Amino acid sequence: MALKFYNTLTRKKEEFKPIKKGQVGIYSCGPTIYDFPHIGNYRAYVSGDVLKRYLIYKGFKVKHIMNLTDVDDKTIRNSKKEGIPLKKFTEKYEKAFFEDIKKLNIMPADLYPKATDHIKEMLGMIKKLVDKGLAYKGDDGSVYYKVSAFKEYGKLANLQKGALKKGASCRVQADEYAKEDADDFALWKGWTEEDGEVFWDSEFGKGRPGWHIECSAMSTKYLGKHFDIHTGGIDLVFPHHQNEIAQSEGSLNEKFVNYWIHNEWLLVNGQKMSKSLGNFFTLRDVLSKGYSPIAVRYLLLSTHYRQQLNFTFEGVEAAANSIQRLQDLIVKINDAKGEGSDVSGKIKKAEADFEKAMDDDLSISDALAAVFSLVKDVNILADKGKLSNKEAKAVIAFLRKINGVIAVIDFTEEKIPDELMKLIAKREEFRSKKMFADADRIREELLKKGVQLDDTKEGVKWKKLK
Ligand code: AMP
Ligand code: ZN
Repeated sequence: MALKFYNTLTRKKEEFKPIKKGQVGIYSCGPTIYDFPHIGNYRAYVSGDVLKRYLIYKGFKVKHIMNLTDVDDKTIRNSKKEGIPLKKFTEKYEKAFFEDIKKLNIMPADLYPKATDHIKEMLGMIKKLVDKGLAYKGDDGSVYYKVSAFKEYGKLANLQKGALKKGASCRVQADEYAKEDADDFALWKGWTEEDGEVFWDSEFGKGRPGWHIECSAMSTKYLGKHFDIHTGGIDLVFPHHQNEIAQSEGSLNEKFVNYWIHNEWLLVNGQKMSKSLGNFFTLRDVLSKGYSPIAVRYLLLSTHYRQQLNFTFEGVEAAANSIQRLQDLIVKINDAKGEGSDVSGKIKKAEADFEKAMDDDLSISDALAAVFSLVKDVNILADKGKLSNKEAKAVIAFLRKINGVIAVIDFTEEKIPDELMKLIAKREEFRSKKMFADADRIREELLKKGVQLDDTKEGVKWKKLK
């Protein structure tokens, strides 16, 4: 089956055809580094990560670019509040972002370009737009995009001309200055007192770039004028991505992006998780309650990216349990010695079902259901002592393969300290002498130390509790 994605531009699931055979260019709108991101933000990055990992699984060579917004109203406002120069201020949150994505097993992008390092490129694009009559300088020293001059405007967001929802995003309101038409948006913002030390000199006067232009300038610089996939949260469709199209296609005269892929909200009690509503948890908040970042990753990826997902701590616990089932199976079958059954057919089916689901616009629930159906069957066979060593290895190889996409299983061989290994041996000794009370005492002691014992047909097995 062909790989298909839902394209916001056409509002259809479409077969994915890369511009260059075997290669994919992806641009993702990254974080504004003014605070710790909340886990709603991370839903966007985990969704993008699953998309990217599945393309790699399918054999594509992926080039992935993610911007860091290090100058805008929020970064300037908060750096002033803290009395720290902008660059030093944003560096702190950049570091926090990289720490978080590492914990969430998000594959690093090839490059994280920053807005402040690309002022020249942005000004170059703005100049082209002005020269073509698509932008003009306002009375306030800002440069605005003349939306009415770009005939395709509104296509991505499915808007009728003249029916733009004003103030649909707080970011639009932040751009409301002296402009010819309320729909026009700022490409370059003339300096005001609030900007303080933050400004660049340009032929349009001193100022700073608008938010939308950074993504047009940096995506096309690193991926070319026309590239395959652009990702972001659903709130970015309008105006941000609509404006990116107007800027890029308006200045470069070429189709900008083939597939626009947007993730839905992470909710809290039915409302979007957001800084402004105050209903958010940062990753640090969740981890400080003792949850593992991989459980958060699993929770964020296990609902289809185009469906809303309500965040609860029970949800994180359920996610941790699902991961534990996978880890437990690996420990259980590691040294299977049965005579074998029909597992290879079951693996083939699980693999085919996993791929069929993922090919269909990354239908993760069905893909995971295929994995857990195999896990259930293999557990039964292992409990009956029927699984052969070869079969067990094939199951583990399959899990390794799909883990390239979900990235939640830990295959590193677990070790426990020697003193605990000695306790396990001691317990075995008690058991062989039928001194069961002493054996049970050791079992309890180990459990307190986070090691659980299982007496199986193949002897005692231990596992670390997560
Ligand atoms: P921002 O730093 O506000 O530009 O947001 C970074 C990314 O997170 C964007 O792609 C947003 O669309 C996305 N995002 C923000 N809040 C949520 C949420 N509650 N659920 C899912 N994605 C979100
Ligand atoms: Zn962007």
